[in-house]
Amino acid sequence: MSNNDTTIIFNGQPLSPGMGEGKVFVYRDIMKRFDEFYDIDETKVEQEVSALDRAFTRISNDLEQLQKRVKNEINSDLAGIFHAHQMMIQDPSLKKEVENKIREELVSAGSAVKSVFRHWERRFSSMNTEVGKQKGDDMIDLARRLILALAGVHGHALEDIPRGSVLVANRLLPSDTVFLERNAAAAAILEFGGKGSHAALFAREIGLPCVAGIKELMSNISEKSSVIVDANQGEVIINPTPEQEKAFRVKQDHNTSITAQARKYAHESAITKGGQQITVLANVGDKEDTQLAIENGADGIGLYRLEQIYLSRQTPPTKVELIQEITDTLKPAKGLPVYIRLLDVGADKPLPFLDMPRESNPSLGQRGVRFLLEHPDLLQMQLNALLEISSIHDVHILVPMITLPSDMLAVRKFLEEAVSNANVTNIPKLGAMIETPAAALTSKCIMEHSDFLSFGTNDLTQYLFSADRENPEVDDYFDDTNTAIFRLISMVHADTPDASLSVCGELAGRSEEVSKLVKSGITSLSVVPPSIPIIKEAIRKVKI
Ligand code: PEP
Ligand code: MG
Repeated sequence: MSNNDTTIIFNGQPLSPGMGEGKVFVYRDIMKRFDEFYDIDETKVEQEVSALDRAFTRISNDLEQLQKRVKNEINSDLAGIFHAHQMMIQDPSLKKEVENKIREELVSAGSAVKSVFRHWERRFSSMNTEVGKQKGDDMIDLARRLILALAGVHGHALEDIPRGSVLVANRLLPSDTVFLERNAAAAAILEFGGKGSHAALFAREIGLPCVAGIKELMSNISEKSSVIVDANQGEVIINPTPEQEKAFRVKQDHNTSITAQARKYAHESAITKGGQQITVLANVGDKEDTQLAIENGADGIGLYRLEQIYLSRQTPPTKVELIQEITDTLKPAKGLPVYIRLLDVGADKPLPFLDMPRESNPSLGQRGVRFLLEHPDLLQMQLNALLEISSIHDVHILVPMITLPSDMLAVRKFLEEAVSNANVTNIPKLGAMIETPAAALTSKCIMEHSDFLSFGTNDLTQYLFSADRENPEVDDYFDDTNTAIFRLISMVHADTPDASLSVCGELAGRSEEVSKLVKSGITSLSVVPPSIPIIKEAIRKVKI
């Protein structure tokens, strides 16, 4: 461990934006800390098995409560995680495996839980996919709960985190983050955590600045340290010098004043110096996002990803449930244009309730529209639901992962058929997501079947640079601000001069790139709700 006041600078991966400072609160892993792992003699077997039974029942009940709490207080998407955990813990074969271990190897219930759950964690993690890693985390999370229950420990260390402290942990699991109240911690820094992890999702949800990927963090920090975290840049300074603290606060004040200034004019249109109006829309996942987007002056909703409704379920939603979830999410945006994307599963987002084909390279496999066209019932149901919603909202439909003009033509035919069977007056506009280089290079033909085009620059970058968007090792290649991207956008604009072109990938939210985007022919940007005022300000500075 470092000297208590040595200054150390770390650069990690920003998981959730913002800046925060405070005293360190180290959260250590129960799996390494408890004395619950020991051998037993035969006379103790039944006692340990009964304790195990009680622990499984208690955790199942706790998860039920947690689900309700998260659903009411945070959102139903996240509640789905705990529902999935409850399904796992209720799987009788898992409990049987632990029980057999106690009986056959004569070990305590805690030891048996640790060993069985670790085994499953390793199996899932070795799949080397984002979903495998997620499932591995789920297993560890459940093991920790069971071990705490067996030890008779109630409550959670993070419930009492001193206000304003910086949380330091190896990694955060869903059951940790759910105990972190909004504004309880000033920031979080982790040894492990991917951009798509549950921890990242929760951190963004509760507005907690978070940086991950800092190896050896736990051995370089002590409870007495103070720390400053710039999660916009991924920079963490342990025991900063007075100069570093001063510079941090100047930056923090600057950011606060820029945001405050931008918010003043957030509800006014974003017009460039040359008089061109650019629409600024929001990317949303739930009703709170939509609410914040409207408060921040969004001109509409530019990307609502339907997979958020599907991924946390054990069974597919019915049409009624789908309509209910979508209308609930979009309620605050009534009267404004909304762009809803058809289910984009496959690659790192397999459907939990469908036995999806095993693919050696899933990002290049059956994802997005390819998957939808293989499962026409799934596609038809979504289109029927969106047609019904079009009686209350100004619906636009986005089709993910278009590569060929025939992809778009096929979806167009499905939509026409759905329209002919329904009683609708407002037929939604249909747009292609430009996320593959082939789609960009043949946009003119794709436009023959589309009403508008929207660039998914996250995937477009991944495919253009052959750099996996989930893999930090190839981050240098994954550059969505590279000239190649702007060149491609300008080419699409030149080939389809009358098309309405938008960007809904992360690139849209980079204020320093706004001018180039507008000059490349983009007329609409869709960004996360907190960025709307800043992006509108950036548009107002564009000179063409
Ligand atoms: C994109 O690829 O840029 C996009 C908006 O879609 P997603 O990030 O959901 O793949
Ligand atoms: Mg995409």
